[in-house]
Amino acid sequence: MTTTAETGAEGVRWDMSPLAPGEEAMKDRLEGAVADASAFVERWPADAVATIEPARLATLLGELAALRAARKEGEDWAMMLTWTDSENPAVLDVQAWVNDRLPLLDEALRHFELAWLSVPEERTEALAQDDAVDGERHYLDSLRRFGPFMLSPAEERVLSARDASATAAWKSLRDRTLGALATTFDDGTGEREWPLSDLEAARRAHPDRDVRLRAQLATNELVEPVFPVLAHCYDSLVADRLAVDRLRGHDDPMEATNLVNEIDGRVVEGLLSAAEAHAAVGQRWFRAKSKLLGLEKLDVIDFQASALDAPLLSWDDAHRLVVDMFAGLTPRLGTEAEAFFAGRRIDAEPRRGKPNAAFCLWPSTRVPGFVFLNWHGQLRDLLALVHELGHGTHFGLATQAQSDNSFMPGLTVAEIPSTFAELRLVDHVLATDEDLGRVLLTRELDQAVGVGFLATAFVRFEQRAYALRAEGQALNPERLCEITETAAGTVWGDAMTDKYGNSRLFWASMPHFVHERFYTYAYTFAFLLAAGLLARSHHPGFPERYERFLAAGGNASPEELMAILEVDLRDPEIWNDGFSVMDGWIDRIG
Ligand SMILES: [Zn+2]
Repeated sequence: MTTTAETGAEGVRWDMSPLAPGEEAMKDRLEGAVADASAFVERWPADAVATIEPARLATLLGELAALRAARKEGEDWAMMLTWTDSENPAVLDVQAWVNDRLPLLDEALRHFELAWLSVPEERTEALAQDDAVDGERHYLDSLRRFGPFMLSPAEERVLSARDASATAAWKSLRDRTLGALATTFDDGTGEREWPLSDLEAARRAHPDRDVRLRAQLATNELVEPVFPVLAHCYDSLVADRLAVDRLRGHDDPMEATNLVNEIDGRVVEGLLSAAEAHAAVGQRWFRAKSKLLGLEKLDVIDFQASALDAPLLSWDDAHRLVVDMFAGLTPRLGTEAEAFFAGRRIDAEPRRGKPNAAFCLWPSTRVPGFVFLNWHGQLRDLLALVHELGHGTHFGLATQAQSDNSFMPGLTVAEIPSTFAELRLVDHVLATDEDLGRVLLTRELDQAVGVGFLATAFVRFEQRAYALRAEGQALNPERLCEITETAAGTVWGDAMTDKYGNSRLFWASMPHFVHERFYTYAYTFAFLLAAGLLARSHHPGFPERYERFLAAGGNASPEELMAILEVDLRDPEIWNDGFSVMDGWIDRIG
């Protein structure tokens, strides 16, 4: 076990004061925003929006941006407290206090969006073209994409009013059912009570194969008895989503997700087919990895286990490596990355009760962003750090250039800079320290196979599940196990065995399918495009284009954003570069 003292991340905690100077100040800010929200709804009734002039629309959008900023600041503040101080009962009170107020702000945001959608399209088009709302053109135009699928304002209100019981309750029942599971287990350090989440981590990545195997069997034993409850939660959510789709007029269960992501369904299908056509690349890595591990054949229990031993990195070395990499991309990105360290905007110290996760939050254009992770000195922590700072530097540039309505890109594009930062770090380390670089490459390959291929298989699993449910077949545990196993099997091919029933658990253990739908293709999308950028990133002119892409934030469609980087999303060949990059890596390890 690594201790924090060895890695130097001890005491590396957030200074939250740039976001939240204190509890009273935050509560005052949020209360003020709630009052502003109801004044906003009164000041801008739907009929006033229908006849609004460009200059007034600019004023309205400024007010809307301020509400959005206050909402996100409150939400992120409560979340940051929860994630760093979850055992403090006062934090739960703050969370509840904030949660009670967020819907009041959401109502105002929704009020404008519904009003805007009920204005005739010729009128909104002309308004969005006006110079007065220059920075919000994409936001205004792109809202229209939901128009054809909207119900009447009264129906929309009814739908969102029943969300808590119709969807949130199933999600939390699923999470609570799994969260309550625990069993006694011994990883070699003595028998103790293990929550499911710890077992999950051990079965995936424990360096000792025997521990992984036993953790897998213990997980099976723990989860199988609750299969009926989990399947019922999923079945109910799928049925509900299909019912709402019918009302809205979506004829493909993926359409709602594609709409949010602003991605054409044909682009997604092209991406999925390309991943399936290149499954042999992933299987080549499984064979290479089985050699590194001295196994005849890899099993799914080895899928995420380290192929090569890595030295532990100190926090200071990681800091230097990561900032050097960003500075090598462009000096401005180096400055943005350094600001996270200098401003104490990273919480890296592992502590009791701190969840095992990594994320980057950037609440609004008025405050800085923050990164959360657990630094144990392992290479996966280094990749997590650089990934989150990839988000952080992106949001840093975007918040300087865009408004609160427009700085945040959709999920597919948002994951590109974070993935690209990981890949550039691998390149950077390979150039300076071949041994460390090779180990890092094996970690990145594991990740690449997960997002490049398995994430695609998950989409196929979901498509099959929605199709079965639409035909009137209930999603019972047997069916769900069978279709996940089949989907994952296309990734493993004959290069990997699944002797211990790992794949059949995916539907039950992954939160993605329950909390969202068709969430995982965004990872494939981002990985393949980021890998494609890697070779190009050494060409002249790339740094300027890349900064422009980052600064654009969400103020353009994915197609327009990728065009800044000279990538044409309609070209079916764009995915291939990513697979070539993976092939090259396997050669280098081989
Ligand atoms: Zn990310």
